[in-house]
Amino acid sequence: MAEVRARVELNVGQHSNIPAEIISFSGLKDGQEHVALVFNRADEQQVPLIRMHSECLTGDVFHSSRCDCGEQLNECIETMHQQGGILLYLRQEGRGIGLYNKIDAYVLQSQGMNTYEANNHLGFEDDLRDFSDAVLMLQALGLEHVKLMTNNPRKLKALRSAGITVDEVIGTQAHVKAGVSGNEHYLKTKIQHGAHMLDIKKISKAE
Ligand SMILES: [Zn+2]
Repeated sequence: MAEVRARVELNVGQHSNIPAEIISFSGLKDGQEHVALVFNRADEQQVPLIRMHSECLTGDVFHSSRCDCGEQLNECIETMHQQGGILLYLRQEGRGIGLYNKIDAYVLQSQGMNTYEANNHLGFEDDLRDFSDAVLMLQALGLEHVKLMTNNPRKLKALRSAGITVDEVIGTQAHVKAGVSGNEHYLKTKIQHGAHMLDIKKISKAE
């Protein structure tokens, strides 16, 4: 259930002092401290925009060029500041393998493996993320109908199979970054291997 709600103000991108409410939960299954952030929810009757964001320390905090997590997070917060929405911040780093394993995977990626091959080489499945706690959080917030902001069909499936009605799916942009360890190959692999619904032409154009 939803436990404590506190007000916070966020500074993201061009925006300062974005008002939000941060919520803690009890009764979650995996023992992690997942939180929800609620933005601009004046009309509680409206079907809310939802995003399930899995923690990525290197992307969210340090804006590493290896992935697009931090840019997706910022885009989501800016959109929700305008339109209202609820961000579920899920503490499942590195698609669920953890930070140190993700660093091991980066070494393998530098040797030519893609993000999925590297995880497989370390003995992990493609994607260990589990969205059942996200479902519990939505239920605790009384949300049975949502609009989902994602490019990832697994997230859509996870919600629908748990009985949450997804009225609409809204894609996020492609955030392409150059550099020696740039994320173009990572983004293309997410499309080709992970069936992410990103526009591959936009990525190629930016090369
Ligand atoms: Zn990331």
